[in-house]
Amino acid sequence: MKDSDSPMTAANRVSLATGLYFLATPIGTARDITLRALDVLASADVLAAEDTRSLRRLMDIHGIALEGRPLIAYHDHNGAAQRPRLLAALAEGKSVAYASEAGTPLIADPGYQLGRAVAEAGHLVTAAPGPSAVLAALAISGLATDSFFFAGFAPTASGQRQSFFRGIAEVPGTLVFYESPNRVAKSLADMVAVFGPDREAVMARELTKKFEEVRRAPLGLLADEMAERKLKGEVVLLVARGDPKQFDENALEDILREALKSGSVKDAVARTVEETGQPRRVVYQLALKLEKAG
Ligand code: SAM
Repeated sequence: MKDSDSPMTAANRVSLATGLYFLATPIGTARDITLRALDVLASADVLAAEDTRSLRRLMDIHGIALEGRPLIAYHDHNGAAQRPRLLAALAEGKSVAYASEAGTPLIADPGYQLGRAVAEAGHLVTAAPGPSAVLAALAISGLATDSFFFAGFAPTASGQRQSFFRGIAEVPGTLVFYESPNRVAKSLADMVAVFGPDREAVMARELTKKFEEVRRAPLGLLADEMAERKLKGEVVLLVARGDPKQFDENALEDILREALKSGSVKDAVARTVEETGQPRRVVYQLALKLEKAG
């Protein structure tokens, strides 16, 4: 079924409590929206959107009429001026739904200051969760998902980008980046310079869309491949976590001994794990051994 063949609206008019509703919208395929998000779109007293035309189009696809309700543009450039208007609507007891252009608001998108201001004013801030490129990319990447770090967009200048990468090189989890297609090759080259060529990496493009593509390869190879291509569309880059630093037992023992001088076993173990990145189990066993030996 094409998006435009969507049947009669699946949305219900529901009664909404006063508050701000962050709505997740599709990152490609228009039918990737929850029934609850449609209900909120059909029911909120005031609608606000990063891009009012995209929201109108989405509402049209799903058969939701505006019915005279205000539809307010709220984005990075007019947030300060528009927040009082939205806060005033909430103060009058209204429900306000906010959608960014695609995916989840606040995830590399506007909404942070709005959410804070509304919470500080004592109103409900809630969400109708749904699509986000970071989670879609992570889920299909084949990389570890037990722990990950969403780094958003890296800086555009190479020097700053490399120091940004250095700052997160030791993060013990999969790294996820948003990137513009024409910077992918340069970004990957800087990643190779900082993370080395061997970490597994993934380029995930046009997720949920017709030309969806996922390329998994070691960072060096991926960088070489992408340098040869002219990419189009929207891209997420992912990099597997690095190997935890290898410590020889003597070095680890020295660090742990120092830590034990000024704290309990529990604190010393915690500090040593943080400092060395070694598994807690290994450090704890060593601490017990040192304690026993006096
Ligand atoms: N709020 C959105 C979210 O929750 O994913 C992200 C908005 S951010 C301004 C746009 C970036 O998200 C794109 O440059 C790209 O890196 C990523 N992105 C969004 N949609 C995507 C898709 N369908 N496929 C791959 N990446 C996507």
